[in-house]
Amino acid sequence: MDYIKRFTTREGVRMSLAVTTDTVETARVRHDLWPVATAALGRAMTGAILLAGDFKNHENVSLRIKGDGPLGVVHVDAFADNTVRGYVDEPHVDVPLKRAGKLDVGAAVGHNGEVQVTRFTQLAQDYTSTSPIQSGEVAEDLAYYLYASEQVPSTISLGVLVDPDYHTVVAGGFIVQALPDATDEALAQVEKNINELGPITEYLKAHPDGKGLMERVLDGLTVNEVYNEPIQFQCRCGRDRFGAVLMTLREEDKQAILEDEVTELVCHYCNEKYHFSREELQDMFEPKGPIQ
Ligand SMILES: [Zn+2]
Repeated sequence: MDYIKRFTTREGVRMSLAVTTDTVETARVRHDLWPVATAALGRAMTGAILLAGDFKNHENVSLRIKGDGPLGVVHVDAFADNTVRGYVDEPHVDVPLKRAGKLDVGAAVGHNGEVQVTRFTQLAQDYTSTSPIQSGEVAEDLAYYLYASEQVPSTISLGVLVDPDYHTVVAGGFIVQALPDATDEALAQVEKNINELGPITEYLKAHPDGKGLMERVLDGLTVNEVYNEPIQFQCRCGRDRFGAVLMTLREEDKQAILEDEVTELVCHYCNEKYHFSREELQDMFEPKGPIQ
């Protein structure tokens, strides 16, 4: 159900659009997120997915939002294959509503701190850049990051609607960017379209599949769809990786964990638990002689 689409226009404006409801709900269930944590992590995961696929290079993006609010750091990795994973330091956070029915993501993330974005591929060197948090509401912080650090004027809209029973009703967002050859008329038109659109959560509540959203935002422009792929929450951890980490422990730490019947390791990103029995670890840690 979740997807990302990318569009170019003849007028020099480009747009990426993502519906992420199932992805955010998966994160919510895996991490037992309370509503404001769902909203913050959901916005950040959606934003990272939108940032990850440049139109030309398919890059991975690690996003860290390090605010001074009670959520702690928001951690997200979005991969070029449109899988995404993430967590917040403190999933069980409650802050007063901003107003009736409006979660205060800014207060939960914090109004001070920094946004850190690392772009990485297998081929090129990592590129990390930071910018100060503007409001903690995520969309504004990412737009400022793109402008200040990557010199790309962008409008970003991100929304997560959470039900009183905590489940994710809708989630998604879009980013609109002006290329150097964008015409003033096109930019004015898109700005007007976005203002008339209103909050993204309201739109997605009425149209959970995101249908018609691009047509509203890019109304009046000549549009070309260039990309359309599914998105899902997916981690890259596995039993073998955790086993390999255990093998790198110092001898005294290996001895210490062998005192337990079972050793449990938990992946921060997806909350998956891996269990290693003492017998299994003894076997793993046993020095293997040279092969004759
Ligand atoms: Zn994991």
